[in-house]
Amino acid sequence: MAHFLTYLLLSFLIIYDSLGLSQSNQFCDAGVGYPESTCGFSSSSSSKLLIKGGTVLNAHQQEVADVYVEDGIIVAVKPNIKVDEDVTLLDATGKYVMPGGIDPHTHLAMEFMGTETIDDFFSGQAAALAGGTTMHIDFVIPVNGSLVAGFEAYKKKAKKSCMNYGFHMAITKWDESVSREMEIMVKEKGINSFKFFMAYKGSLMISDELLLQGLERCKSLGALAMVHAENGDAVFEGQKRMIDLGITGPEGHALSRPPVLEGEATARAIRLAKFVNTPLYVVHVMSIDAMEEIARARKSGQKVIGEPVVSGLVLNDSGLWDPDFVTAAKYVMSPPIRESGHDKALQAALSTGVLQLVGTDHCTFNSTQKAFGIDDFRKIPNGVNGIEERMHLVWDTMVESGQISVTDFVRITSTEWYDFIGTVLFIVTFFCFQIYSL
Ligand SMILES: [Zn+2]
Ligand SMILES: [Zn+2]
Repeated sequence: MAHFLTYLLLSFLIIYDSLGLSQSNQFCDAGVGYPESTCGFSSSSSSKLLIKGGTVLNAHQQEVADVYVEDGIIVAVKPNIKVDEDVTLLDATGKYVMPGGIDPHTHLAMEFMGTETIDDFFSGQAAALAGGTTMHIDFVIPVNGSLVAGFEAYKKKAKKSCMNYGFHMAITKWDESVSREMEIMVKEKGINSFKFFMAYKGSLMISDELLLQGLERCKSLGALAMVHAENGDAVFEGQKRMIDLGITGPEGHALSRPPVLEGEATARAIRLAKFVNTPLYVVHVMSIDAMEEIARARKSGQKVIGEPVVSGLVLNDSGLWDPDFVTAAKYVMSPPIRESGHDKALQAALSTGVLQLVGTDHCTFNSTQKAFGIDDFRKIPNGVNGIEERMHLVWDTMVESGQISVTDFVRITSTEWYDFIGTVLFIVTFFCFQIYSL
């Protein structure tokens, strides 16, 4: 029970940041909420709520209990709580009551490949809430390499927010000022996770030399280093190879950057992190090759975290081979969705703890945007959806199939993130519960 309360308090604690962003009820005010949903208490709702008789779940245990909430903060979880008449009652008998999901990997309103993702901080978050995710962590992309300018730009984008969010910071180049600004992010802005790109040659990719310096800097700041692990030089060659062969359709995307390149970069990043002696978080683990490198490192005692994304867990590359370009282009993301077999292996790795938590890499482009690459797969904006679908797809794929327990479900879709980061300082809170039918 102690664990349970600790987590719920963390999860629902309203933390007003020092940057002037205020709690928003735009989701409710805009009238796009689901009337039967328990999400979206507007400011006019009672500030006292009792959720009665549900099976309350956390990452460690489950029990039938009531949850009493005042002003958005859970103050009691125990059976048969008695309350006054002014408390709103919600009957959860026969249902699970669990913390809202945390999606650790999203890209809302991101400028990328000559366009901007079609989901912004409002539409993306509305989708998240509809699917049971109540917090996400988005990647700030620096502006002309400046982290401070990037942070300011994302603060503006996030003004549309209607739920909790946090930020990671992408590092897209390296020099003294980036190194200095990393300290500002950690000490003043509450951003303590930095992503380095080993792919996207000519735009986001950094060399091993710079990656090493970035890892050292993360270590000195006590920040978490994250990597997009693909060998960008080899991907560049693979793309040229496909074009030379006349393969210009979406299938060329997967053929040009096979699993071996993800495995190679994952292994390299893991070894460099070991050399520096700092933890490493590998985002969007899409292949057996990468997963096995993580398994080996973890077995040896190295602190490596592996994040599969829901598209990699539940899809295979058959969509990329669809003869209809509009359909096939929807499946283009990096690293690519792999051929059948990788999905099941990633599921197994998640169930045995080799991989720890599930993100989405939600990064959506519409078919007009995807059509930029109609003649050349290299120009198809990379990204798939998932922020709305993640919770129920993980439930269907992992819990319904018996691969994980309901408490594991809470851990890998929600609480695990807190174990890594401890405190996420830059949060705007929107209050939401998840109630699932048993
Ligand atoms: Zn990435
Ligand atoms: Zn991403």
